[in-house]
Amino acid sequence: MKHEWDIIIAGGGSAGLAAALTSARGGARTLLIERQTKLGGMGTNALVHTFCGLFHPDTNQPWAWLNPGIPQEIGEAMMTETQQSEPDLMGRVYVLRQHPSLFASIADDLCAVETQLTRLSGSEWASLSQVANGWQVEVLSRGLTQSHCSKAVIDTTGDATGARWLSPSLWTMAPPEKLYRPAYVCTFTKVTGEHGEGWRLALGALIVKGIRSKALPEATTGAAFRDSTFTEELFMTIDLEAGQGQWDPFDPNKRAELEATGRFTAISLWRYLREHHADFKNCPPPQFPAQAGIRETARYVGDEILTGEDLATNRRFKNEIALAGWPMEKRENARGPKFRYFDQPKPAGIPAGCLRNRQYPGLFFAGRCLSADHEALASVRVMGTCMATGQAAAKMALAF
Ligand SMILES: Cc1cc2nc3c(=O)[nH]c(=O)nc-3n(C[C@H](O)[C@H](O)[C@H](O)COP(=O)(O)OP(=O)(O)OC[C@H]3O[C@@H](n4cnc5c(N)ncnc54)[C@H](O)[C@@H]3O)c2cc1C
Repeated sequence: MKHEWDIIIAGGGSAGLAAALTSARGGARTLLIERQTKLGGMGTNALVHTFCGLFHPDTNQPWAWLNPGIPQEIGEAMMTETQQSEPDLMGRVYVLRQHPSLFASIADDLCAVETQLTRLSGSEWASLSQVANGWQVEVLSRGLTQSHCSKAVIDTTGDATGARWLSPSLWTMAPPEKLYRPAYVCTFTKVTGEHGEGWRLALGALIVKGIRSKALPEATTGAAFRDSTFTEELFMTIDLEAGQGQWDPFDPNKRAELEATGRFTAISLWRYLREHHADFKNCPPPQFPAQAGIRETARYVGDEILTGEDLATNRRFKNEIALAGWPMEKRENARGPKFRYFDQPKPAGIPAGCLRNRQYPGLFFAGRCLSADHEALASVRVMGTCMATGQAAAKMALAF
């Protein structure tokens, strides 16, 4: 049996959620396919805990929303839930702390009221083919296959999965040694004390001591702790080398190794800190994410390719569909980010051609798999920008 829709969205991360809400609110019969059980993508399943790219990049001015619509709506809902009245100013950027559980719950609430929206959970998007009136997709769930048809499809998988199926010329990926490094994020609770700059420096020194004495694995070197918006809860992020030149995010065997390394590193750190740091004395084992955080996989090749140079020079486009404001945060090794800021504290545009390719009408890409070069991706991959491009892709699909 075939199910018919106006718009199908594959992948329910930040981009897919924004696309689904925009599509359903635009009156389209909308299907959202997600392999995990929560919406929010990396922002829920990998415990990524700050929304970047939501705000205008000029920090000499009071903070202001960059892209209206769904990004602002989700940002405001998060501020209400976490009782934040404004974003944090961190160096040269505004960021909003977000809580992954609350993001999943906000996504549920927003979707629940959309009568035109149907969600498939725990369902793998398994094929894409062009048919007479649009597109046909297959979805695999617990051994059963379903067929769905629609006039338009939006790929928000983060991997440009649909492009890979259609043609090698539509799908591109940086060489393994360049791919922005994956990371493992987990939650530590019941951590007492104040966690200011001095505390973090002392903690860093303690970790280095643990590595020197071989009590801790080398991978804990860059462990970064950040306060959640809730008392005594911290998020801990460890960037992982993942074999550098051998890393392949599409190899399930390498992903299994990565997940196990992340868990081993986090548990080693927990054991060590409980023993050696008074503030961690009553901390229960860390809560693991549903998956490690994967910063970069593959991208689509659309009519236009957004470049790092476009962003750095604050380029604007006649056909722009969203604005980018986050600096290019390049993480090609586990020693932390290298930032390339825009020349002016102003946004840059993202043109419509980054979300579509004229050869394939009715097919759109948004979020971190849109058409951009490796450097531009370091900016547009952040969740605020992904929401904005997801929203834009749905507007384009509605108009198609
Ligand atoms: C460690 C780390 C730290 C980061 N830090 C920040 C930060 O501080 N702030 C920030 O804003 N951003 C940050 N990012 C970037 C950001 O989290 C991601 O780039 C962003 O979530 C991408 O959104 P997306 O919707 O494009 O993709 P994703 O969030 O990856 O969502 C894609 C969704 O598609 C689903 N999917 C994929 N394939 C299929 C399929 N075949 N069938 C069904 N479903 C499928 C996935 O399960 C997922 O839910 C970080 C990323 C990482 C990994």
